[in-house]
Amino acid sequence: MITKQNYHSPKIGFISLGCPKAGSDSEKMLSKIKAEGYEIAQNYHDSELVIVNTCGFIDSAVEESLNAISEAIDNNGKVIVTGCLGERREVIEKRFDNLLAITGSEAYREVMDAVHTHVPKPVNPHIDLIPPQGVRLTPKHYAYIKISEGCNHTCTFCIIPSMRGKLVSRPIGEIMQEAENLVRSGVSELIIISQDTSAYGVDIKYRSGFWNGRPIKSDLYHLAKNLSKLGVWVRFHYVYPYPNVDNLISLMAEGNILPYIDVPFQHASPEILKSMKRPANAENNLERIKGWRKICPELVIRSTFIVGFPGETDEQFEYLVEFLEQAKLDRVGCFMYSNVEGAAANNITNQVDSDIKQARLERLMKVQKSISQKKLSDKVNSIQTVIVDEIGDNYAMARSYANAPEIDGVIFLENPEGLEPGDMLDVRIKSSEDYDLYAGPK
Ligand code: SF4
Repeated sequence: MITKQNYHSPKIGFISLGCPKAGSDSEKMLSKIKAEGYEIAQNYHDSELVIVNTCGFIDSAVEESLNAISEAIDNNGKVIVTGCLGERREVIEKRFDNLLAITGSEAYREVMDAVHTHVPKPVNPHIDLIPPQGVRLTPKHYAYIKISEGCNHTCTFCIIPSMRGKLVSRPIGEIMQEAENLVRSGVSELIIISQDTSAYGVDIKYRSGFWNGRPIKSDLYHLAKNLSKLGVWVRFHYVYPYPNVDNLISLMAEGNILPYIDVPFQHASPEILKSMKRPANAENNLERIKGWRKICPELVIRSTFIVGFPGETDEQFEYLVEFLEQAKLDRVGCFMYSNVEGAAANNITNQVDSDIKQARLERLMKVQKSISQKKLSDKVNSIQTVIVDEIGDNYAMARSYANAPEIDGVIFLENPEGLEPGDMLDVRIKSSEDYDLYAGPK
């Protein structure tokens, strides 16, 4: 008989690259691997083979993925490649001819088939069952939930729809079950992600699903409302400024979900937005922001922008700066446009010189820096509820509702003794910097 003592579980190495959406795919694959009785190796040497979940969104991500594959081959030799870059097989095959398998994103079954071919499935009657919340790559106290895959838009700078296909929304009951399992396992903050969160349910015609025996309509509003019943922080990312988002903001105003929204505007000039083929490009975004703030005055808005999109004139860039000065967004990320192989925008004439792009990026971030400074200095002396992420020697790093993990500034807490990651407490803000705050006891 195989006993737990003499049984040897084969170990699989796993490298996860890319955005939170790719991270969510990695968690699903890791859960599957563990559920079948394999162990996750901590280094190349112990791994029977290595899976690399790649990102192929921009050229620097492609390079990072190719380097990770190369490192795995050098250190282990048996490598399965999956994820976004796997959709561009020719890019990988050009550099490597000795991979065990290449699959695209969300190809969980193909990845497991390749694993079974090279490392037979363990036969172990004593396998510990995978916990209901699955395997997670994030700290214990927060978790990402991906509610749909793919996208129905055709933004000219993006190749995600060609890699991941059209929008496919997950059944609402399945999302709610995942959320409930995460909360039961101790998660205090759920972060909802997808390529286009506002479009949730469009493809399934908002048909009702079931959770705990009750029907729930598969749309953004009902998803948010039901998630709010779980009694934890719920934060939404990648929301496009469609009219239906007003309902979500009302839920924020009522205290049901965090008054924080990540809206990737990417630009403000109507001509550039049209050339980018952005969703909701005809909306008056300043008016919409004003309307949202009227419904929910404490709303924090995060966005990202691209400067130097092909054909962007000085006037169009100035229009964007003016938009930022008026919109006074709380958090802003900015990227210089760069061609992505296969993207339609590569063919637009009038590519902007790189020194102009660099100057525009610096100018935009300078404007945003003073907006952020002012907004954060207004918080000094206020009391904020925070969640602790990390404990350092002299400070703990924490976040309030206004900070999403990994991308926004943080709140440094003095005297971290006795605090643990995941703790929630009220603190008094003592001082501010450009993007971060410092706090002490209430
Ligand atoms: S909305 Fe645009 S940028 Fe976002 S995934 Fe879809 S095509 Fe890409």
